[in-house]
Amino acid sequence: MATLFKDVLMLDGDRKRADRGHILVSKGRIQSLMDVSATPPAADKVVEGGGRMAVLPGFVNAHTHAAMVLLRGLGEEAPLMEWLQKKIWPVEAKLTPEHIYRGTASAILEMLATGTTCFADMYFEMDGVAQASLDAGIRCALCRGITDGVAGPDGERKIEASIRDGLRLFEKWHGREGLLTVQLGPHAPYTVPLDDMKKIVALARERGVGIHFHFMETEWETDYIRRELNMTPDDYLRETGVLDTVGTTLAHGVWMDPDRADDLDMSKVTIVHCPQSNLKLGSGVMPLDRWLDINVGLALGTDGASSNNRLDMWGEMRSAALLHKGVTRNPTSVPALDVLRMATFEGARAFGFVNKGLIREGWMADLVLVDLDQPHYVGVNEDNLAAAIVYAGSSADVRGTMVNGKWLYLNGAWPTLDRDEILAKAREARGAITA
Ligand SMILES: [Zn+2]
Repeated sequence: MATLFKDVLMLDGDRKRADRGHILVSKGRIQSLMDVSATPPAADKVVEGGGRMAVLPGFVNAHTHAAMVLLRGLGEEAPLMEWLQKKIWPVEAKLTPEHIYRGTASAILEMLATGTTCFADMYFEMDGVAQASLDAGIRCALCRGITDGVAGPDGERKIEASIRDGLRLFEKWHGREGLLTVQLGPHAPYTVPLDDMKKIVALARERGVGIHFHFMETEWETDYIRRELNMTPDDYLRETGVLDTVGTTLAHGVWMDPDRADDLDMSKVTIVHCPQSNLKLGSGVMPLDRWLDINVGLALGTDGASSNNRLDMWGEMRSAALLHKGVTRNPTSVPALDVLRMATFEGARAFGFVNKGLIREGWMADLVLVDLDQPHYVGVNEDNLAAAIVYAGSSADVRGTMVNGKWLYLNGAWPTLDRDEILAKAREARGAITA
């Protein structure tokens, strides 16, 4: 089935300005892009843009824990360790595989409604995340969070079992239906012993699997690496081998020092900026403006809904673009177009999705339709669309979200999903874990 976007403004992170024209989508791909002066071809479905609709690449939420929507609002505004130890971990211990599926399904509704077509997820019981993503038809880059722990009754260290589970997930789900990629997810330097981290990195390289982990989220982590491991954060990246591994994604990087990057080749690494989670947890502000000058991948993520509390990439884009201007007292730092590129193409590339994240012929038809016929878009044109989206826009402007050329969200509804059933099951799960 072919869909024609007629007379729309198209924008992606590789264009200096938006183009006005037509987009023909069929067989899951962007088949052709035409100037507005061209006669549009026939199609089964036509979206009449009238010059007042924008089409963007679907957003890629490059770091989240989707099922944590079930924990949203627990322990608000508590200090980090108290929040984790008293509110989050005891409830997480009650989560069953069924809960993970239900929570993820609910998070997917939320992400689709805000224009996200792909998310990178680290949690546990990841078969539920994979299945919920396939059932919804959304793209997902998933990894099991690997952590150390006490040995089991058979004497096996918990970390051995979780590494094995990570590899099992790769074998089972990687590449499924073109929607899923799987990474290894050593949780963080302070939850995974150094030797195990080296082993995981070696395994990843041997098998061509990506790695996704939390790195330098809080200032405390710098002290930990110095004190406990007797090295600098740079040594850590070098000695574990992650810099030489294709497809390494570091979540947060708040306390990484871009000045040190001169000595490191960061070209194979992507850092995922999570501005709202870092603000809410009081972790600090990563110097994004300086990283933009360095040869490193930079993507955007929400982190889990317990520390954000939204899974809305529009909020991350706006925060990223505003925050650094304020901190550096420089209105030219972190341009809107760079932020749009981070929120789309860079995230897709980091997790091994090819031909996704730009509006180009032959690329995947993972697209967001944005309604510009709103008061806050009066005066929008090809030149200022990126700024309009980032500074004036919001997810309330999303009219449709398409993955592989198929509408998964359209005009306030999810045509292929049973919204009421998904929400009822999510509420039930929330009740069970907080009872
Ligand atoms: Zn996280």
